[in-house]
Amino acid sequence: MGAMERRVADLWFTEYQTPNLRLGLRIRDVLLNKQSPYQHILVVDTDQYGKVLVLDGAIQLTENDEFCYHEMMAHLVLCAHPCPERVLVIGGGDGGVVREAIKHEAVKKVTLVDIDEDVINTSRTFFPNVSCALEDERVEIKPMDALLYVKERFNEFDIVIIDSTDPVDFASGLFEPEFYRDVHKALKDNGLMIAQTESPFAEPKLLSEAVKGLRSVFENVYLAWGVVPTYPTGFWTYSVGSKNIDPRIQRRSAPKGTKYYSDDMHSLAFKLPPFVWEIIDGDNLKEAKAD
Ligand code: SAM
Repeated sequence: MGAMERRVADLWFTEYQTPNLRLGLRIRDVLLNKQSPYQHILVVDTDQYGKVLVLDGAIQLTENDEFCYHEMMAHLVLCAHPCPERVLVIGGGDGGVVREAIKHEAVKKVTLVDIDEDVINTSRTFFPNVSCALEDERVEIKPMDALLYVKERFNEFDIVIIDSTDPVDFASGLFEPEFYRDVHKALKDNGLMIAQTESPFAEPKLLSEAVKGLRSVFENVYLAWGVVPTYPTGFWTYSVGSKNIDPRIQRRSAPKGTKYYSDDMHSLAFKLPPFVWEIIDGDNLKEAKAD
């Protein structure tokens, strides 16, 4: 009788992206599994996407596709602004958006406000290529609740980037009109803000609510989209609030070495399929057609 095959452990990480949709990643190793004062932090090493940061069961970033998201969150607004000197990053404790922001010479100071210092330190330890800019002298880190921080800021920032977790618990206020009003006050006259606003396939209601909330505060609201393979459905949206600048007009070229964002991707990002216009109540439809 032949020898038995040696069995190997078949470990998988599964994210329930919606109650009816899940993403499974084969795990090579579990590198960190801890509870912070705010959320559960998991770092796993996978064959398909390299190391993955998971907060409260939701994928935040993977080594192999994080650039798709971080480049869009930063450059869609930084390349549209005439002189983006002062940048505020809300959430974003992994440092990916900060890394992209300081690629712009015009940027004089970036303030990062993340409620959970454990996320910042976890990224420093396990994602050095993502957190690499956190030690830059132009970067200031404030481990606190952004809802409180922004309430005290007036006419201070050129750019505000809201790179938050999904609207659950202490992050839910970051998707509310009250917070958008505080962001509007914290921005200078020609200020721009951008927020991740989820997937039109997985969370259409959340997307339309966020855009409605932004429209109740900002003079102009634009929606952009992009691909992020490990985010729910892979189709992701970015909502831009503006006081007077039209973010569809690129005023500076893509920084060298970007892998997703480019001059072409900037203009493409604001061209939306009809079903998405439908979800956000299509106000912009008229505008897009007029160009
Ligand atoms: N790109 C990821 C996404 O779209 O799912 C988000 C990444 S980033 C790690 C999200 C960060 O938002 C977390 O580190 C979390 O601690 C932070 N966060 C959530 N609510 C916050 C709040 N009220 N104030 C400051 N940071 C907050």
